[in-house]
Amino acid sequence: MNESYRHKGLRKKLIEEIRSKGVSDNRVLEAMERVPRHMFMDSSFVKFAYRDQAFPIGCDQTISQPYTVAYQTELLEVRRHDKVLEVGTGSGYQAAVLLEMGAKVYTIERQRELFLKAQSFLPEIGYKPHFFYGDGYAGIPSYAPFDRIIVTAGAAEIPEKLFEQLRVGGIMVVPVGESSSQVMMRIERISDEEYKKSEHGHFVFVPLLKGKSF
Ligand code: SAH
Repeated sequence: MNESYRHKGLRKKLIEEIRSKGVSDNRVLEAMERVPRHMFMDSSFVKFAYRDQAFPIGCDQTISQPYTVAYQTELLEVRRHDKVLEVGTGSGYQAAVLLEMGAKVYTIERQRELFLKAQSFLPEIGYKPHFFYGDGYAGIPSYAPFDRIIVTAGAAEIPEKLFEQLRVGGIMVVPVGESSSQVMMRIERISDEEYKKSEHGHFVFVPLLKGKSF
């Protein structure tokens, strides 16, 4: 699939729409302007790639709404060279946005089919995160600590194991709550035991599930 002037134009408009909804971090918006979202979509939805909506990507999962990606990424305050753990690779779109911001990305997915698809597709278009197949609830202890952790599925509670893998001074952004709606939480690790928590509005994500699926 190629990238055309039309795609670029549609993407510019989408980014302006996200800006008008309140996201102002230019580093996030510029990164999103570079990622060809249409290439991450399921073939039946490609024509809608530059609508500000979530769409199915198979396995009952979705590629998140662009506004949600932008908002969550803004809260994460990613710096160049940060080591970032993403839970829920899905289509790989969020991972691509983080890579465009200069982060080193470790992304984990529990659905084997989505893991395999992202692992083969992303490098083809130049995005090279480290891919893991497993239960993101457990994080990736062998690569911890991380400067930033972003969870892209709704967690019933703050995943304790992930907090343990956050560097002191690090930030985790995770939607927490019931399956119908979650509160976006930003958790900053102040010391080994202490953290500062803040809440940033309601969102709807697919659930963070335990275990891995074959
Ligand atoms: N970041 C993705 C969004 C995908 S939706 C994107 O940009 O497209 C959330 C993803 O989280 C789904 O693919 C789902 O399979 C995955 N997921 C849910 N629970 C998980 C878990 N415990 N560990 C890893 N991935 C999980």
